[in-house]
Amino acid sequence: MSNNDLSGIGMTSRRTRERLVKRLRDEGISNERVLTVILNTPRHIFCDEALAHRAYEDTALPIGFNQTLSQPYIVARMTEALLSMGTPKRVLEVGTGSGYQTTILAQLVDMVFSVERILPLQELARSRIDQLGLRNVKMKHSDGGMGWPEKAPFDAIIVTAAPREVPEELLEQLAPNGRLVIPVGPDEHQQLLYIQRDEQGGFQRHVMEAVKFVPLLGGVIR
Ligand code: SAH
Repeated sequence: MSNNDLSGIGMTSRRTRERLVKRLRDEGISNERVLTVILNTPRHIFCDEALAHRAYEDTALPIGFNQTLSQPYIVARMTEALLSMGTPKRVLEVGTGSGYQTTILAQLVDMVFSVERILPLQELARSRIDQLGLRNVKMKHSDGGMGWPEKAPFDAIIVTAAPREVPEELLEQLAPNGRLVIPVGPDEHQQLLYIQRDEQGGFQRHVMEAVKFVPLLGGVIR
């Protein structure tokens, strides 16, 4: 079976995704829009064909270049958090990776701007997103720790690799009332943070939970 097959059969079928969605509900994900999009999105096209049969397990999967496709629970949790105070219109994603999180977001918000430092990963993600017919995703090959200043401000920013500290540039690129969901900290002690910019320009921080992401790295790879 080719994993270019969007509908999927057997281990990559809609039935298998229904089981994943049930598990996400059991784990506390409750936003119906997020769950519906996960139900309808073929995750198996975002990983290597040899791993397609594991695409609907609730685990992270390798995508090459020492990077991973995030665990569905984490994708759901971060997306739910971004939508919790009303639906953002313009969203910046740092760390396109496979493009799966990008695809989930693109079905929920007006416009997704996604930055990736590894060009081959970005190109693969682009082709998958085109294959799905999504037209509201703009991509840039650059170090996303700097954000995407030309496209700022953003109603929400999601970061899928962990810096040691929250980059100032990302806070600056948040619109008033904008929110940032970001894993922060060294390998073994990362916390997922939810940071909201208030009307006065201050920032409210909440710790969501302990997580394990690949590190946010500087520079780009061609
Ligand atoms: N959301 C992705 C997660 C991929 S892993 C998915 O579900 O597939 C994190 C990604 O962040 C990797 O692709 C990595 O190359 C990228 N990354 C790490 N540091 C970065 C940086 N400074 N700028 C942009 N992307 C970065």
